[in-house]
Amino acid sequence: MRFPTTIAGSLPKPDWLADPEKLWPSWHLAGDALRAAQDDATRVALFEQQRAGIDIVTDGEQSRRHFVHGFAGSLDGVDTSKIARRGIRGDRYEADCPTIVGPVRRTRAVHADEMRFARDATARRLKITIPGPMTIVDTLNDAHYGSRAKAAFAFAHAIRYEIEELVALGVEVVQIDEPAFNVYFDEVEAWGIAALDAALAGAACETVVHVCYGYGVPANNAWKHALGDEWNQYAHLFPLLAQSAVDAVSFELAGSHVPERVLGALGDKNAVVGVIDVATDRIETPEDVAATIEAARRYLPDERISCSTNCGMAPMRRDVAYAKLRALGAGAAIARGSERPRV
Ligand code: ZN
Repeated sequence: MRFPTTIAGSLPKPDWLADPEKLWPSWHLAGDALRAAQDDATRVALFEQQRAGIDIVTDGEQSRRHFVHGFAGSLDGVDTSKIARRGIRGDRYEADCPTIVGPVRRTRAVHADEMRFARDATARRLKITIPGPMTIVDTLNDAHYGSRAKAAFAFAHAIRYEIEELVALGVEVVQIDEPAFNVYFDEVEAWGIAALDAALAGAACETVVHVCYGYGVPANNAWKHALGDEWNQYAHLFPLLAQSAVDAVSFELAGSHVPERVLGALGDKNAVVGVIDVATDRIETPEDVAATIEAARRYLPDERISCSTNCGMAPMRRDVAYAKLRALGAGAAIARGSERPRV
C-alpha cells in the first residue's frame, strides 16, 4: 500500500492519568494503579490511531513522563533525583534535567512492559520511539564522562540492547528521536551519525530517525519564527543522514518553511513526511494533507514515502490531537486514491 501512515510518537495523556498539556507532567496515580491507568491510556491511544486509519501505531508514549527522561532515567548511572536546570537544544529553552553520575548501563528492560501490553492490544504494525544518543546527552547534566561524544556512545550501547529485546517482543519499527541533530551539525558529522549507527547496529527491524523542529511549545515556535523564510537545517542534515545505516528519515514539512527541494538530499533513505503541523491547533483538512504528500511526490518515488505528524503531540489538547490523526488518515487515503477510512 502506498503512503502508509504513522505518528511521530506521543499523544496527549488523559487528565485522569497526568497533568494535561504539559511536557513534564506529574502522574496522578502511583504503583499498580498507575501501571493499570497507563495501560488503559494506551488502549485509548491505540483505538484513536486505528479508527483514524493509522497503519503503524505507537503506544502514544502513555507510560513515560517525558520522551527522553523516561528512557535515560531507567539506566544505571543516571540519577533522576539529582536535577539541575540547563539550557537545551542550543540554549533554546531551559529544562530541569537529571544527571549522569557514573558509567551508563542498561541493567533491565526499560519499555518492555508497555510494549508487551501494546503488542497484545493491537494487530497493527507497532513502532517504539527511543530518544537518540545525542538528544539524551543534550537533555541531561554530565558529572561523569566530561565528553558529549563519550556519553553518547554509552547511551547508544544501552539503546542497542533495548531494541534487541523490544524486537523480540514483536515491535516491528524502531524510531530514534534526534531533535538535537537539527541544532548541532558539527557534532552530527563528528560523532552523531556514528552514535546513531551504533544504537541501531544489528536491529532486526525497520529503523527510522526522527529529526524535527520540536514540540509546538512557545520556545520552539519563537525559534522557528526567528529562522526566517527558508529553513536550511535539513539542507545540512540530510546529506549526513544519507550516510547513516538507518532505513528512513522522519521530518517536518507541513506548515513549515522547509524548502521542499531538500527531499532530494535524502540519498537512498525512505521519507517519513510530516504532513500534520503540531505547532497549531488548526486542524488540517484531508486535502491539506494530500497536498503535502503531493509535494513530497515531486522529489521521491511513491514507494519511498510514508506520512506522519511533524513531531509528537504530547502537549496538545486531546480533541485537537485526535482530529489531526483523522485528518492524517483521511488525507493519505485521498493521496492513494482510495476511500477514506471509516471513522
Ligand atoms: Zn519531533
